[in-house]
Amino acid sequence: MKDTTSPPHEILVVGAGMAAHRFVERLLRDPGAAVRVTVIGDEGHGPYDRSALVGVLTGREVEDLQLDRTVFRDDRVRLIRDDRVLRIDRSARVVRTRSRRSYSYDVLVLATGSFAGRVAVSGARLPGCFVLRTIEDAESVRDFVDSRSRALGRPLRGVVIGGGQHGIETAAALDDAGVGATIVQYADRLLPSLLDEAAADVLRGALEERGIAVRTRTRTTRLDPDDSGAVTALEFQDGTFQRADLVVFTVGVRPRDELARNAGLDVHPQGGVIVDDHCTTSDPRILAIGEAACVDGRCVDAAASAYAMAEVAAARLLGGGERFGGHRRDVHRTIAGVDLACFG
Ligand SMILES: Cc1cc2nc3c(=O)[nH]c(=O)nc-3n(C[C@H](O)[C@H](O)[C@H](O)COP(=O)(O)OP(=O)(O)OC[C@H]3O[C@@H](n4cnc5c(N)ncnc54)[C@H](O)[C@@H]3O)c2cc1C
Repeated sequence: MKDTTSPPHEILVVGAGMAAHRFVERLLRDPGAAVRVTVIGDEGHGPYDRSALVGVLTGREVEDLQLDRTVFRDDRVRLIRDDRVLRIDRSARVVRTRSRRSYSYDVLVLATGSFAGRVAVSGARLPGCFVLRTIEDAESVRDFVDSRSRALGRPLRGVVIGGGQHGIETAAALDDAGVGATIVQYADRLLPSLLDEAAADVLRGALEERGIAVRTRTRTTRLDPDDSGAVTALEFQDGTFQRADLVVFTVGVRPRDELARNAGLDVHPQGGVIVDDHCTTSDPRILAIGEAACVDGRCVDAAASAYAMAEVAAARLLGGGERFGGHRRDVHRTIAGVDLACFG
């Protein structure tokens, strides 16, 4: 972005998630900012706190997750929900959406987040198998637990595949919802990117004490259906089986970079729209923030880093010279009732 003294008139944000919300909030903090911002999101909801999604499994109201809506009452902003941007025409500086509308931009901000992954094994999409990325996903798991436990006339047996933070929180929420929970982890310990063996053992002990089973060094090779077609068991590489009425995959995310890829922007071979530390892509009129972006060869995977990028991008468009200061690695939170602090 060469001219940083006069803010661009038409700012178009693709994606109405956590990074987009923070971006708009930061932009509007300057009451004199002569900007018009259009945010297009493909979910039916306005931006919400995705990191609190597991609460829906234990009865938290979806309304409680919504992020501050006052930002969208500002005359300079409009939020378009339930529409998806399908194409970017960089030469005309226009995007086209699923509803066949076109929106032009001076600056485009890609804040499209990630897809939740599943392991690539037979049966991974059977009824009873879920990911947890959106409000709809969380409501589907909650409704399935209700209906399936009624149909079977007993509490469900649940398996969470993936022993990272998201997996542990999901297992704890299932446990709270009355589903017997087992975490199946391919690595040799829980939270391998954050904890050494001793710390992971403490965490494992605390989970087992509250009734959550943990299987490490376990690779799932197949999911089997029962007569109704719903998942009923997992088969592992060592030949053993485990019964399961419900499976949730928490095995990582894949950046939603398809728009950028199709528009010819630079995309990392492992995924993610490549940006510099001002969040600018290979097209100076297009920025990328949050989990869709790849900075310093790495994609963002936490809200704190997504927010930091949003702040940098907004400040940049208002004429500031902020730079992204690096990925946030510190964790200090309570996971499944266990206080966890990781530094460095
Ligand atoms: C269950 C769960 C728990 C988590 N817990 C934590 C936690 O404890 N701590 C933490 O730091 N982080 C956590 N995270 C991660 C955190 O939520 C993300 O880092 C954050 O949401 C990233 O923000 P984002 O705006 O980049 O992506 P998102 O919030 O995913 O927003 C992207 C939005 O763009 C929309 N979109 C995509 N493509 C298009 C298109 N073409 N047109 C229109 N709209 C589009 C998507 O549907 C989505 O609504 C968690 C995530 C999940 C799923």
